[in-house]
Amino acid sequence: MIPTGFTYHRASSLKEALDLLNTHDDAKLLAGGHSLIPALKLRLNQPAHLIDISRLDDLKGIKEEGGTLVIGAGVTHGEIAHSDLVKEKVAMLAEAADLIGDVQVRNVGTIGGSLAHADPAADWPALMLAAEAEITVLGPNGSRSISAEDFFTGFYETALGEDEVLTSIRIPIPPAGTSTSYQKFMQPASRFAIVGCAAMITRTNGTCDRVRVAFTGVADKAYRAKGIEDALTGKAYDTGNIEAAVSSAAEGVDVMSDHFASEEYRSHLARVYARKALSAAS
Ligand SMILES: Cc1cc2nc3c(=O)[nH]c(=O)nc-3n(C[C@H](O)[C@H](O)[C@H](O)COP(=O)(O)OP(=O)(O)OC[C@H]3O[C@@H](n4cnc5c(N)ncnc54)[C@H](O)[C@@H]3O)c2cc1C
Repeated sequence: MIPTGFTYHRASSLKEALDLLNTHDDAKLLAGGHSLIPALKLRLNQPAHLIDISRLDDLKGIKEEGGTLVIGAGVTHGEIAHSDLVKEKVAMLAEAADLIGDVQVRNVGTIGGSLAHADPAADWPALMLAAEAEITVLGPNGSRSISAEDFFTGFYETALGEDEVLTSIRIPIPPAGTSTSYQKFMQPASRFAIVGCAAMITRTNGTCDRVRVAFTGVADKAYRAKGIEDALTGKAYDTGNIEAAVSSAAEGVDVMSDHFASEEYRSHLARVYARKALSAAS
């Protein structure tokens, strides 16, 4: 299929993008186009205006700022995968970025586009939840920050307003003694997550002081597995405690069932991938 007709605008500044978004009723932002263009081709989305933000310098760059890693919304998955700063400060982000799609997808698709799209099988949402990221958005009334916990509201749904642009992601740099990992069981063709698990553990003398675990692919939106976090916090980091903790991986959520994995199999994979992520964050 080919998309329905639309008017293409290339924004030359963030302000122009915002103005265009607010001038045209039926407009969509275009970043890497790796989720939007397929949706246009299938006519799942038929906007009258496309506003290209892919060349905006304001949305680029990865930097450290006052104990926070700041990633521009327009940064590609590939740039994150290759960033020495990301590898040093929050390694699971680079690890996960390298598992997204193929080289073409990673070279063009952006973290901001992925978060705004909120595909339930996308990798970034789980990482944002585990890392307790703050998502910065800009709208006609200025800028606001939304915690990752509040950002993902449902199946392809977020707290982002239709008149807002996601501008950056702020990730607190974890304290010394923190290890992270992202592990996923992927759909072999697209590499989207059938189950993806992000884990972040801060330890003192072998005891888990702080544990963050989040999943994607399991339910209609990414979620924090607070049962696992609570079960492991204050306990020794060992295989017995990890094994006991992961039993609650899919508790309290409606586990999806589709032609890739039944509810029962996905629940099993959630436990397996939680164990893998927690063990790899050593
Ligand atoms: C073959 C293939 C394999 C893939 N495999 C994976 C995978 O393994 N894991 C994974 O997580 N993803 C995967 N993806 C999705 C890919 O990561 C996309 O790049 C990503 O989901 C969307 O980013 P984008 O920059 O391409 O956004 P676009 O497609 O341009 O936009 C997506 C949506 O976000 C909105 N948007 C974009 N930027 C902003 C912004 N700054 N502010 C507000 N709204 C915005 C757009 O209006 C649109 O609604 C795959 C895609 C393909 C085609």
